[in-house]
Formats: sequence, structure tokens, C-alpha cells
Amino acid sequence: MGERKQKQISKKKFLALPENKYCCYCGEVATTVDHFPPRNIFHNRKYPEGYIYPCCFSCNSSKKNDEQSIGFILSLMDWNMEEKEDDFLIRYKAIKNNNPKLLEEFQQLSKIQSKKILRHRLGSQNTVIKLGMLDWTVFTCGPEVTRLLNELCVWFAQTGYFKHNLEIFSGEVISYKIPSEYVNEQNFWNIIEKMVGIPIIVETGHNISNQFFYRYFSTKGGFFSIFQFGAPQYLFLICALSERHTPTYSDLPSGWSRSGPIGPKIRFDN
Ligand SMILES: [Zn+2]
Repeated sequence: MGERKQKQISKKKFLALPENKYCCYCGEVATTVDHFPPRNIFHNRKYPEGYIYPCCFSCNSSKKNDEQSIGFILSLMDWNMEEKEDDFLIRYKAIKNNNPKLLEEFQQLSKIQSKKILRHRLGSQNTVIKLGMLDWTVFTCGPEVTRLLNELCVWFAQTGYFKHNLEIFSGEVISYKIPSEYVNEQNFWNIIEKMVGIPIIVETGHNISNQFFYRYFSTKGGFFSIFQFGAPQYLFLICALSERHTPTYSDLPSGWSRSGPIGPKIRFDN
């Protein structure tokens, strides 16, 4: 049997399961299978097994372009980007065609400003030299990058909630981006160690946690997770809070984003 035919059969089987009847994003009837995290963000398309979700045609097709842009942003944010330059150039060309406004908002900083920021992020000039980053240029980005990264956080929350809480998420997602150099702080690991789920992420038998990592903690009506891709300059922290738990406060600590209401408007159970 051809690979294509086999894929169609396994997709059919997956959607025939009662828990996969509805789209995990909007609650409409699911007719497609969505890979999340999206396959395109993985280097050499070594994407993890088992991270598939029931999805309606409309949600699946409306995600495509943004997934491509998110793949580009994540590869830009990878500290090991230089090793993956070919991959980066392919992404860059695609974005130039499909989402040029994303490229327009990147602003190159001067050499002096770039040096200052790298020194600050990496702790010292010595580290900058040791890592061979002396000639690196720093770019600032704008609202389109923020929108796309918030979208990534919401999708991560929706799929994680669906996978681990076994229901479609309906509520609000709050998210935060943590600069990765903070991860060495003991406080951070104290929090991480309290998160019970330690998934081992595999692709055809190989552990690919060096490309994708997450830990989570789930409760009834809540899903909390920290995740990262590649060797990132940032990690993401998300809290998915169902309507039962949506915070009533109007202000979040600075740096946190609020999604507004997420999930199915109406849900029919027959
Ligand atoms: Zn949908």
C-alpha cells in the first residue's frame, strides 16, 4: 500500500474515535488532522510523533500562513541559527513572498547598540566573544511578531489542554515569554520540577527533545505549561484557564499577554 493511502486510512481512523469528533480549536465537526506544533517549524522536518489533533477544514487552512511565519520567527530566535543557515534562507524567501509586512517591521540596531544588548543578555563581553557573537546584529521587532507569538501560545494552550485534559478548551489563555538566560536561576527550576508531565518527544524512534521541549501541569479546568523550540532566545509560559477559573482582575503583571475569550461559542453534544 502506498504511503499516501496509508496516511489517509490512519487519518480516517483517528477522526473516527469519539474523542476526535470535534475540532480542538473551535468545536465544529472535525474533518482534518492538524499537526501541532506545526511540522514546518522543525529543522529538517523532524517533527514529533503523536502530536496530532482533530481539526475542522476552516481552522486548519486559516493556520497555514501564520504557521509559516511562526517557523521563520522561531528560527530567527534560535541561538544556533548559524548552523541552520540553509534552512533559514528557504524560510526567508517564503516569508518575503507570503508575509512581507513581517519583514518590514524588523529594525536593525547599530553596531554599538547591538553590542550593548548582547553584553546585557549574555552577562559579559567575554561570553559574547567566547560564543563568537561579536559581529552579531540585533533586530527589534513589532506588533506582527507579537501577534504571531501570542497565537502560537494560544494554539499550544488549546492543543495541550485537549491532549492532557481530554476536552476542548474554552476560556482564556495568558502567556509570557521568558528570556532563556534566566533558565539557570534556581527559582525557575523549582517551578519546573513541580510540573509533573515530562513528555519524551520522539520522531521515528529518536528523541528530538533538543528541538521541542515542554513540561506541564494540568488541573480540572486549567493547563499550565512551559515550552521551547530549538535553542531559543525565549521560552514560553502559558496558563489556559477555563471559564471556571478565568481571572477577574483587569491587570496582569507587566509582560504577560491576555488572549481574550478562546474556544467554541456553542457546543452540540449529539
Ligand atoms: Zn475549527
